[in-house]
Amino acid sequence: DGPVIIVGAGHGGYQAAASLRQAGFSDRICLINDEAHLPYQRPPLSKAYIKGSAGPESLMFRPEKFYLDQTIELIAGRAVSIDRARRKLLLASGEMLPYGHLVLATGARNRLLDLPNANLPDVKYLRILDESEALRKIIPSKTRVVVIGAGFIGLEFAATARIKGLEVDVLELAPRVMARAVTAEVSEYFQARHREAGIRIHLGVQATSIEAQGDKDTGKVTGVSLSDGRHLPADLVVVGVGVLPNIELAAEAGLPVAAGIIVDEYLSTSDPNISAVGDCALFASPRFGGSLRLESVQNATDHARCLAARLTGDKKPYDGHPWFWSDQGDDKLQIAGLTTGYDRVVLRGDPAKKAFSAFCYHGDRLLGIESINRAGDHMFGRRLQAMNRSITPEQAADESFDLKSALA
Ligand code: FAD
Repeated sequence: DGPVIIVGAGHGGYQAAASLRQAGFSDRICLINDEAHLPYQRPPLSKAYIKGSAGPESLMFRPEKFYLDQTIELIAGRAVSIDRARRKLLLASGEMLPYGHLVLATGARNRLLDLPNANLPDVKYLRILDESEALRKIIPSKTRVVVIGAGFIGLEFAATARIKGLEVDVLELAPRVMARAVTAEVSEYFQARHREAGIRIHLGVQATSIEAQGDKDTGKVTGVSLSDGRHLPADLVVVGVGVLPNIELAAEAGLPVAAGIIVDEYLSTSDPNISAVGDCALFASPRFGGSLRLESVQNATDHARCLAARLTGDKKPYDGHPWFWSDQGDDKLQIAGLTTGYDRVVLRGDPAKKAFSAFCYHGDRLLGIESINRAGDHMFGRRLQAMNRSITPEQAADESFDLKSALA
């Protein structure tokens, strides 16, 4: 009962507000937004937005009128503390907002590079629209970028920068790209494709310092020194070394946190009046056993829908089926399921033809499918998951096996 206050207007926060209204919630909804834009989609920031010429309005989920029509109060500002005893949220402006239910959709922030000269203006990150906008503006005046970190965002940006005509070097400490997230087969495919595009990928190395000329606050980047003694020239450095979940607001209010804000299978914190969704939430997952924190649009929006349903009387544990995508140059990677913990990988299709899927098994249990330019396999994987079904590794490898027959 009472108003729902949502902290954070990213994918999770926006969806929670929209789904609450859709489900008929009629009390006050406030969406606390600490970015100076209407709520927007993040994935294009490292892809189409940097590449193209469309303005920020092309990224917005909805125009301003939507929030007015739906009486969703967009409040510009930052939440600074929670008074749980009095059920009030304090904003940096000093405003106190009473809540019936508080939703923490605070997302994650860039992990910062702790290196000499890492604060120079030509060392950039890529999480929020303002950072993407800054990169978009600066790219035409740059010739050579070193990307630190070969995760999804580092590689998406690297591919885009190459298309924009920059010389690109990518540094990765692990022995392969996207090592924590995808199979070795998929890493190898992308390494080859990025190298074909003229991107130099350096594996098993670390940046040890950023070289610059001039003042320590305003100087110009001239290159990056590596742990193997090499030095790469650069006039731009882009850092993609992962994120840290924004858990501080919860922690300071005495809510349990670990590698995320701890919530149960209903996405509730230990305080029944406070829930957490999206990148910031470490949620109990009966389906996967144990706790998970995922960073994906699917996870944030499905969390938000599940929570909105609970707050409007339809209480069910969260049981979303994970899926994800990453566009890198001309290649589209799509992942259905969680592909960690596999002991066997079966390929369907042919990497040489630039279209294949890696079916990941633990024993005979299909955990997930990583598809490259095979949207049909991806959609199949999502539907199969939703039906709690599997196919055998032999069927997966056999291109003459009709996947649709497994869905009948
Ligand atoms: P966020 O979208 O991070 O939103 C959290 C919001 O809360 C932020 O605006 C933050 O500033 C705000 N906030 C935090 N603390 C406070 C406070 N105290 N007061 C007020 N506001 C606060 N996922 C995919 O599935 N596919 C992709 O291709 C993909 N590409 C991506 C590309 C980029 C460049 C990035 C950065 C992410 C990408 N992701 C992708 C991941 C996806 O965008 C995130 O998983 C998703 O945005 C998570 O939503 P969220 O609502 O949990 O957090």
